[in-house]
Amino acid sequence: MNIFKKKIIFIPIAIILYLILYSTSPQIAGVVSVVGTLVWGGYLYIKNEKFKARGKIFKTITTIGMVLFFITFGIGGLTYDPAKSEQTGLTSQKVIAEQQVDKAREEKAKEEQKVKEDKAKREAEELAKADAQKKAEEEQAQVDAKKKAEEEQAQADAKKKAEEESKQKEQAAQVNVKSSNSSTTGTTSNSSSSNTSSKSVSTNNSASQSSNSDKQTITVFTTNTGHKYHRDGCKYLSKSKIPISLNDAKASGLDPCSVCNPPQ
Ligand SMILES: [Zn+2]
Repeated sequence: MNIFKKKIIFIPIAIILYLILYSTSPQIAGVVSVVGTLVWGGYLYIKNEKFKARGKIFKTITTIGMVLFFITFGIGGLTYDPAKSEQTGLTSQKVIAEQQVDKAREEKAKEEQKVKEDKAKREAEELAKADAQKKAEEEQAQVDAKKKAEEEQAQADAKKKAEEESKQKEQAAQVNVKSSNSSTTGTTSNSSSSNTSSKSVSTNNSASQSSNSDKQTITVFTTNTGHKYHRDGCKYLSKSKIPISLNDAKASGLDPCSVCNPPQ
């Protein structure tokens, strides 16, 4: 039991020593491997009864393992060329470095591409935004123009209306002036009554209004003493001749002269 324990402890120690030897001098390790494999193999096949008693499969696997070890570490260690290895190492390092450089370059290119794409995207977005803004402004301008046109139309309409109103007012004022002119000789009560009557006359009763205004504008003549009114040129107007509107004459209670037959 003790011996077995000791034996199993030697295995890792031997592996460690072998690895140290291999890393310091692969060629010596190669020689050790070749000799060791041959001796160990010979011992197993010729002297070891236990191994001999084993099955064919176990023997085959052990043999393949020993052959692989012999080739890899034995022959590999013996034919190890430090210069070549170093070169290979350098080459591999160089390759790795180049690969790294390539990778870095690729990443940089990718990044640049991304930046470019982002920029293009941003520009496109800005362009679209500007377009949208322009469109909106144009629409706003159209709306404004329409509004302005409507306002101008409304103003023009209002102006026209105002002009018409002022024209109507003017006409009304002229009529008033005429009526007041023709009623200057009449009494104030007459004038006021005529005003109220003209005010109370409805607009659709144009016939009565026109006849009323006719009476207002038609001038007849009266005398200082008489109670009649006359046409211009009547013989009774030789002493005094006072002009008066027909309305006022009638309102004053004057009667038409039977000789000259003035309008009634
Ligand atoms: Zn008369």
